[in-house]
Amino acid sequence: MTVHVIGAGVAGLAAALALVEAGRAVALHEAAPGAGGRARALPDGTDNGTHALLGANHRALALLARIGARDGWVEPEPAGLPVLDLRDHRAFRVALSPLGWRDPALRPPGLSFGALVALAKLALPGRDRAIGPAMAGWPEFHRGFVDPLVIAALNTPSEEASSARLGAVLRRLGGRGATRLFVARDGLGPNLVDPTLATIAARGGSIRHGARLRRIVQQDRRVTALDFGEDAIAVGAADAVLLATPPWESQRLLPHLDVPAAYAPIVNLHYAHQTPGPVRFLGLLDALCQWVLVRPGGVSVTVSAGDAAAREDAARIGPRAWTELRAAALAFGLAGDWPETAPPCRVVKERRATPRHLPGTLLRPPRLPLANLALAGDWTDPLLPATIEAAVRSGEAAARALLRAA
Ligand SMILES: Cc1cc2nc3c(=O)[nH]c(=O)nc-3n(C[C@H](O)[C@H](O)[C@H](O)COP(=O)(O)OP(=O)(O)OC[C@H]3O[C@@H](n4cnc5c(N)ncnc54)[C@H](O)[C@@H]3O)c2cc1C
Repeated sequence: MTVHVIGAGVAGLAAALALVEAGRAVALHEAAPGAGGRARALPDGTDNGTHALLGANHRALALLARIGARDGWVEPEPAGLPVLDLRDHRAFRVALSPLGWRDPALRPPGLSFGALVALAKLALPGRDRAIGPAMAGWPEFHRGFVDPLVIAALNTPSEEASSARLGAVLRRLGGRGATRLFVARDGLGPNLVDPTLATIAARGGSIRHGARLRRIVQQDRRVTALDFGEDAIAVGAADAVLLATPPWESQRLLPHLDVPAAYAPIVNLHYAHQTPGPVRFLGLLDALCQWVLVRPGGVSVTVSAGDAAAREDAARIGPRAWTELRAAALAFGLAGDWPETAPPCRVVKERRATPRHLPGTLLRPPRLPLANLALAGDWTDPLLPATIEAAVRSGEAAARALLRAA
């Protein structure tokens, strides 16, 4: 039995890894010249965008351990996230976990008993509604904690973001170490994609790049061939297919699928600015920059739910973001030089970074839409927002479905 995995993003890689671990022959087919999809290294080695994991991302962290890459993900701010509020230039640290708020020095702005109750209500399963209006009674807590959390976790402005999706995230943040934040020390290539591919290859799996699946040939609800344009691959009676393409592409290949209707961009700015280290991670409030990742090889800024930033000219946002991040770097005494003039900057705009997680948009796509085809991808998780964790879970669930069906 050969399983043809279509798409070598995180979901396809996780699926391929699970399948080779179960002793199956795996052939990965990836349209792009490199693997990783929306979590990839660009040709010069820069990440397309900063990716953070939380301790609650159990499947993603377990995958890193299995491929021997867990140590490459470091916790840059174990003492609480440093945040600079550009409204009043107050610099403070904040704990991501409410347990950490027992220490007054780690409390988010606007914290009160009422605000805590409102947050707890969002964590409970219940009516799916927009988060912004639900937090209207606690504007400072919303501005200083809930809104940045929603934008980071759901890539959707909190005025329109789904409380059910946020609730799924919040309920996972209760466990021990669940709010610890990790980033790739050297980059998504060396700390995620390359070691996954190496582990798959060591177990006999193969990958073909530049192989874009054009059409799925079906007969009696089974895939019989995969049409790649220049070549076609017959899918035998014992073979199977695992489709791990992004939603719009999965729908093009299987038109009956329901997929998310709207997407949100993430804009990343990467500055060629060397610092002596260590790795740092800073937040900003009332700013264009939301998060700043400082690694010895460069400084990266993330703007999630970045509809406005995605429309802006790179020549304009580069200097503006640098002024903001420089203020944060100086406020927290980061090592290295922080000149007033912005260094050269590369702007990466991922226009369809994730679906917009709006109320009432929970999809439950079938895991096995055809008898010998399983579906994976961050968007197929029944509850979690589109993240690395959702992608890994989906890939593993799709692999299990095929193994059961075999
Ligand atoms: C800038 C940015 C920052 C992010 N930050 C975070 C973060 O901090 N934490 C987090 O957990 N998540 C983050 N995410 C989300 C995370 O990257 C995604 O949820 C995850 O990578 C999606 O993986 P996937 O495999 O489901 O889809 P994809 O990554 O889209 O993979 C699909 C793959 O299929 C390939 N493909 C498409 N069509 C075909 C075809 N016809 N034939 C063959 N191959 C095809 C594509 O080239 C791609 O490699 C971020 C995303 C972006 C863009």
